[in-house]
Amino acid sequence: MKTRRNFIKISALGSAALVTSSCMSSEKDNKTPVKHPKKILKPIVISTWRHGIQANADAWEILNRGGKAIDAVEKGVMVVESDPSNQSVGFGGLPDRDGFVTLDACIMDENNSCGAVAFLQNIENPIAVARKVMDETPHVLLVGEGALQFAKEKGFKTINLLTKKSKKAWEEWKMKSKYTPVINSENHDTIGMLALDSNGNLSGACTTSGMAYKLHGRVGDSPIIGAGLFVDNEVGAACATGVGEAVMRIAGSAIVVELMRNGMSPNEACKTAVERIIKKHKSLKNLQVGFLALNKNGEVGGYSIYAGFNYAVQSETQTTLLDAKYNRERD
Ligand code: ASP
Repeated sequence: MKTRRNFIKISALGSAALVTSSCMSSEKDNKTPVKHPKKILKPIVISTWRHGIQANADAWEILNRGGKAIDAVEKGVMVVESDPSNQSVGFGGLPDRDGFVTLDACIMDENNSCGAVAFLQNIENPIAVARKVMDETPHVLLVGEGALQFAKEKGFKTINLLTKKSKKAWEEWKMKSKYTPVINSENHDTIGMLALDSNGNLSGACTTSGMAYKLHGRVGDSPIIGAGLFVDNEVGAACATGVGEAVMRIAGSAIVVELMRNGMSPNEACKTAVERIIKKHKSLKNLQVGFLALNKNGEVGGYSIYAGFNYAVQSETQTTLLDAKYNRERD
């Protein structure tokens, strides 16, 4: 049953009047009168990039029959992890500088429970391992050999993640021997997924093979709770894609959620976080970052530094791929 306290929190999300430039709510803001909530659009699932369309479809099967957001996001992103033609996530991902495919993933539910794996090799679905870390250990993050050992103990099969196509791309890259993250390249990005289920609960998942040709051992934002993903069931959820180092520098997804708590719409919150990244970096060359957000009312938004970021939305009324707003065209 909806308590008066929750009602007021939900109401705050619908109020444009509460938009402020500060990150944290002030005592004064908490006392500001708020509008009634808009009609809550649920269930709904959104995810980054074009590969999000298929992922949303799988998540929707769960949401549409009244299932939980946490189960939907796990199942949804697994489609992309298991797709060998996708070279930015899971099986078939582009390797690091030394030819190893290393995977990062995290998952978070409506109770602030979360689990993550980083620098995990030879496992097709790191998100499912992250879920087990969340459900079956007292920890949040397992990395490298320890994460692999845990996965094997839980019955995950090991496989070679480096496909012929990705091996060939890496060999060609080695000839040129450059370390240059590519901006806006489809097939070079994380899948981050956020869902609101029919009970009004939020969850999120984020999974990637990371920056192609990264240094061996590099971990990006995607498995870091608060950077690549953050969920607060009172407010909303956010995830990130793009250059993980820049996202981590501002605790990106946590910031987006806090901005929504402070009254911003998902779009405004993503835009403000992007502007903070821009402010904190001397050079924006090749620095693409996109944020995606979903609030408790089922409102969605996305924003990126450069043009080209898009996201997939699935609800009862729409199945669509939207272009996010952005700060600038290419550099
Ligand atoms: N954020 C990911 C990372 O830095 C990569 C991406 O989304 O493109 O590992």
